[in-house]
Amino acid sequence: LGQKIGAALQKMSKKTVVGEEEVKELLNEIARALLQADVNISIVKQLQTSIKTEVALTEEAVGMNKRKILQQAVFNAIRKILDPGVKPFVPRKNVPSVVMFVGLQGSGKTTSCTKYAAFFQRKGLKTALVCADTFRAGAYDQLKQNATKAKVRFYGSIVEADPVVIAREGVAELKKEKYDLIIVDTSGRHRQESALFDEMKQVQEAIQPNDIVFVMSATDGQGVHEQAAQFKAKVPVGSVIVTKLDCHAKGGGALSAVAATKSPIIFIGTGEHVEDFELFKPEAFVAKMLGMGDITSLVDTLKDANIDSDSELYKRFQEGQFTLRDMYEHLQNVTKLGSVGKIMEMIPGMAGMSGLAGDHGTAVLKSFIYMLDSMTSAELDDGKVKKLMTPSRMHRIARGSGRSIPEVQNLVVSYTKFEDVVKKIGKMNFKQMTADPGS
Ligand code: GDP
Ligand code: MG
Repeated sequence: LGQKIGAALQKMSKKTVVGEEEVKELLNEIARALLQADVNISIVKQLQTSIKTEVALTEEAVGMNKRKILQQAVFNAIRKILDPGVKPFVPRKNVPSVVMFVGLQGSGKTTSCTKYAAFFQRKGLKTALVCADTFRAGAYDQLKQNATKAKVRFYGSIVEADPVVIAREGVAELKKEKYDLIIVDTSGRHRQESALFDEMKQVQEAIQPNDIVFVMSATDGQGVHEQAAQFKAKVPVGSVIVTKLDCHAKGGGALSAVAATKSPIIFIGTGEHVEDFELFKPEAFVAKMLGMGDITSLVDTLKDANIDSDSELYKRFQEGQFTLRDMYEHLQNVTKLGSVGKIMEMIPGMAGMSGLAGDHGTAVLKSFIYMLDSMTSAELDDGKVKKLMTPSRMHRIARGSGRSIPEVQNLVVSYTKFEDVVKKIGKMNFKQMTADPGS
């Protein structure tokens, strides 16, 4: 989706005059991309209308460039869909609460409730997990193993067959033990299984949870809207977790889940491990949908770190300009900061690369700087890096910096990834979008 909408906007951004026809064409292209990305048809129509309205309004207000207005409008429209206008429930220390997880079988409930437990346990809450899934064989062992690994208290039963009884007794016992956060995992529901939906309702009535989290897999696609609506019709869903966003999922289902449940997304799952779990950031999510993910978070992080994102260097980034010298200067800027994790976030193409955490990451970055140090001024300013890096030149750079040829090659690979991100933004006015995306 990101690529499609991004490409449509890019195409526009190359045109100097943007007429009504182009706007219509762009809206159609965006609609097609959204539909292909599993966004529900009614949401697509809603998006088109709000984009049109915003374009019309802004145009009257200021004599701004239509292309910029459109980019902003697309961003805002998607952002608006993701905001149901209610604040999610947040468990707190010393305020006992019960949170129930629901969703289709295989959506990632058991995995996500463990991640959720670990997240709040790290925040200092006394946290416990209850297995109220007696339907699927192995559910008890799965959650128990997860809980043990995450060092979270587990409650379950292999003799009791009634999930309502387990949930009620588990919650009562854990409340007595003064747990702050009691999380109840339920069995997965298939579509049209009314008996299981009734059972879910009974569990909910027995434990009266403070929040019900609807877990959906980003891979579920167009089915999500109906799914989410069915769950919401039966129990008062209050939050959404979107899982499997690491699986090349298109993400459009997330919009449907919010629309159908009128509940905000609270976390996203980005892998099978307990640490593959992130707080949901709508701006970053929309930016990613529009193909500007890396660069918007880059600017945010620069701002957080008090690096002047208005400097010449970053102006060049915003214009899609990039050379080895830009990389060199950027690396010098960010390595002045402390944490390697933060630094990695600031280097597109390296963020999320495993094996680069800690000392190893710092060493790699330093070696990049040494190699860049031993390049000539002409080399640093040469835009065609792949062509520039002949074997003999790489050999010279390796020797000059006391590095190996594979290390020089690795630098070129990282440079290329970084360059891709910078090129992607081209002349898109991402600063305007990141400045105040909510408004
Ligand atoms: P449940 O039936 O809803 O409880 O789903 P599970 O938690 O058992 O997850 C089903 C499968 O999806 C398991 O193989 C999980 O490891 C996997 N899974 C869950 N969340 C994620 C995620 O965010 N990313 C990936 N790649 N896999 C996930
Ligand atoms: Mg499960």
